[in-house]
Amino acid sequence: MTAMLILTVGEALQRASFYLRRAQIDQPRLEAELLLSWLTGRSRIQLLLDRQQPLPVEIVSDFIEAVARRCQGEPLAYITGEKEFYGRHFYVNQDVLVPRPETEFVVEAALAWARELGLASGEGINLIDLGTGSGILAITLTCMLPAARAWAVDISERALKVAIQNAERHGVAERITWCCGNYFQALHKLSSYPRFNLVVGNPPYVQSRAMASLPVTVKDFEPALALDGGEDGLDGYRAILQDLSRHIQSPGLLALEFGAGQYELLQEICRETNLFQNISYQRDYQGWPRVLLGLF
Ligand code: GLN
Repeated sequence: MTAMLILTVGEALQRASFYLRRAQIDQPRLEAELLLSWLTGRSRIQLLLDRQQPLPVEIVSDFIEAVARRCQGEPLAYITGEKEFYGRHFYVNQDVLVPRPETEFVVEAALAWARELGLASGEGINLIDLGTGSGILAITLTCMLPAARAWAVDISERALKVAIQNAERHGVAERITWCCGNYFQALHKLSSYPRFNLVVGNPPYVQSRAMASLPVTVKDFEPALALDGGEDGLDGYRAILQDLSRHIQSPGLLALEFGAGQYELLQEICRETNLFQNISYQRDYQGWPRVLLGLF
């Protein structure tokens, strides 16, 4: 790739796409453009207009490095340090899962519930995000429900650091109480906290035995702590549902993302608690059941 030193922008993009395609990256041209756009600060359209110009010397080695990292399977979001979620940009690193578009359905469900109850301003909502990771759910909902009060929990101190940084970026760090620990148990460290009427989360839900067969870009780079949900993938859900009754106030919503094929078992675990008036699910962009909706 040293030949890139004398390349134009267009040639560099072509060369990078070639390496990315060879590494079986899905959208090689797009990813090459996104990487170059991130490094140069130029939009993808600008890069197209600049295609005859020489690749700026000062970014050559960074571009080669970024393309090489992507070829190894590292998620684009870890290389650029950024991922968009529900229209906002979030800082990410290897301490947190890369936000997935599916998780936007948790936001949608929570906002729809708030609207139905006439709580769209957030007034009267105490929300908790269990396993906040980069903070996407807690932060997005706190931004969208300006009068809501919010709590965000994660077992990883390092993930919480990322989440707090993101909350600062979006101006809501002061409105969210951050707790390190295991789901509801984390709250015991606080001197006081309310009962919650909006409980959201994206717990780890991959079955332990399926971890090894995840794509390289997931298994070799994303935190296992955020993915491995135990034998049937539902350990985290059991922990949450076990403590739920002591922490909720009706009327409320439990909205949790889950994985393929897990709805029936999850529904069963929810039923056994006798806490819900209604249990259903929301499908994702691909039509798979993806978000558990429990009305309590
Ligand atoms: N959606 C992720 C994946 O399939 C898993 C997220 C999770 O376990 N919460 O890789």
